[in-house]
Amino acid sequence: MRIKTLVVGTLYTNCYVVYEGDEAFIIDPGAEADYILEQVKGLKVKAILATHGHFDHILAVERLKKTLKAPFLIHPADGWIMEESLKWINPPRPAPEIDAPLIGELGLKGHKFEVIHTPGHTPGSVSILVDNEILFSGDTLFQGSVGRYDFPGSSLEDLKKSIKKLMELPDRVKVYPGHGGETTIGDERRENWFIITYLL
Ligand SMILES: [Zn+2]
Ligand SMILES: [Zn+2]
Repeated sequence: MRIKTLVVGTLYTNCYVVYEGDEAFIIDPGAEADYILEQVKGLKVKAILATHGHFDHILAVERLKKTLKAPFLIHPADGWIMEESLKWINPPRPAPEIDAPLIGELGLKGHKFEVIHTPGHTPGSVSILVDNEILFSGDTLFQGSVGRYDFPGSSLEDLKKSIKKLMELPDRVKVYPGHGGETTIGDERRENWFIITYLL
């Protein structure tokens, strides 16, 4: 399986193109639809996934959905977060239609994508674990920190529980966050201030 990291938009969101052979998922297309489309040329995009509903993770969804004819999946608890978040955009725009809930498990050419509900940053935040080796953590877990928990719909208590859940994963699991550089569960267990402060 291969992963392309595309840094998009004003908040430098990591949009990931995950592919095996000619089949792909796009995770968090936060902006720059043209650039993303160019990067998936020759690939069959099976679905567009969002780790949560903030505008910087979904702004390109509408264009990609239309052009690629691929379904859009997000956790249903973030429907209103999308609507709320897209009001901050100038000009404001409607939320993209959800084609299926991002829950349970997805497959891509034999790879298992397990959706872990990790509320806290938003109520419908998810982390996506692939083959027990790779975690797309959205804005829940970053290298050295965690997502903000002072937004509408955020909850520090939920975030603590969610991070605790992620810390049950093996140290070797590689983490691809919604912003910033890659890390591992082991490194975060040892060095992340939030985990050291709240969970040890
Ligand atoms: Zn966010
Ligand atoms: Zn973000």
